[in-house]
Amino acid sequence: MSIRFNHPTVSGEEIDHVIEAIHNGRLSGDNAFCKKCQEWFNLNIQCHSSLLTPSCTHALEMAALLLDIEPGDEIIMPSYTFVSTANAFALRGAKIVFVDIRPDTMNINEELIEDAINEQTKAVVPVHYAGVSCEMNHIVSLADEHSLYVIEDAAQAIASTYNGQIVGSMGNMSAYSFHETKNITSGGEGGLLAINDERFVERANIIREKGTNRTLFFEGLVDKYTWVDIGSSYLPSELQAAFLYAQLQNLDKLQESRFAAWNRYYEMLKPLETAGKIELPVVPNNCMHNAHMFYIKTPTADSRSQLLSSLNAKGISAVFHYIPLHTSPFGQQVGRFHGEDRYTTVESERLLRLPLWSNMKLSDVEQCCNAVIQSV
Ligand SMILES: *Cc1c(COP(=O)(O)O)cnc(C)c1O
Repeated sequence: MSIRFNHPTVSGEEIDHVIEAIHNGRLSGDNAFCKKCQEWFNLNIQCHSSLLTPSCTHALEMAALLLDIEPGDEIIMPSYTFVSTANAFALRGAKIVFVDIRPDTMNINEELIEDAINEQTKAVVPVHYAGVSCEMNHIVSLADEHSLYVIEDAAQAIASTYNGQIVGSMGNMSAYSFHETKNITSGGEGGLLAINDERFVERANIIREKGTNRTLFFEGLVDKYTWVDIGSSYLPSELQAAFLYAQLQNLDKLQESRFAAWNRYYEMLKPLETAGKIELPVVPNNCMHNAHMFYIKTPTADSRSQLLSSLNAKGISAVFHYIPLHTSPFGQQVGRFHGEDRYTTVESERLLRLPLWSNMKLSDVEQCCNAVIQSV
């Protein structure tokens, strides 16, 4: 019996909400379900404003537009991340400055950021890998000191906390993903821009509405609706919002099942770590993760290849993850690595992700663990 790497999260109530949206007779962006989702996020992220977007990629692009990023600006981020983190800023002509990660959490090493800051630096983009928060106190105070913006790539980090604060509530803005591989989904693709800095709220609505003040017009705050700024169409459909709303209402239950699977992996594989055969994920004491991903690290890149083939031969879709962006052809063109690549490449080559989804049966988790136990 084969085990897929991921199944999209389904709560069971999506279809009722989608039918309701159809009956409401309004399917374009910013209608009833979109507003309901955004109210949920405003409350739960404790942000000034939140805007559903067609993807996290789009939310990051909106952030780059809102910061008025221009050619010559530099943006600091880890190289161990998804292309969208960098693309959003590369699209505006920025130089991407990659900083090494910490080997324990795979997050940007906060201690190395200051050395990469110069006159051109505009923003720092911490990526909360596997839903484990970056060291945000350090990053936010550094940004304040040097007048930089912080944009959190919280694509994987819905419902995570750091010192009790919601991950995604600490930077000026943050971007979440509701792609089908994430903890919750708006029907395959989707995202959110959460705005914690009030200065960006009005313009964010304009940029999202093709550069028009349509939102203000609908709110009765201006009497004509006209073209006032650059913009694009960063609105998801009402059907996506309806789908997502069902998942938000069931979030606790969905998260509970995800944690059960994650915890079973951890318990069953712990003896292999004790025996020195693999390493398990590290979650610092001040961080509460969200069971987004379960990964292990093998001693070397070669042992990872062997384990991947062995698991795949047993019908288990284990996969590796990011190839560091600074080693990619386009990453080399638009970016540079600041300092030494001490951990980014070597740690990324040892990391292997195991199947995990909401409502995954514990017997499936056990089958995956047994396959790992037999293979290492
Ligand atoms: C998934 C992901 C994205 C992109 O999300 P989309 O919604 O697919 O655009 C960006 N950054 C990180 C770290 C991700 O994991």
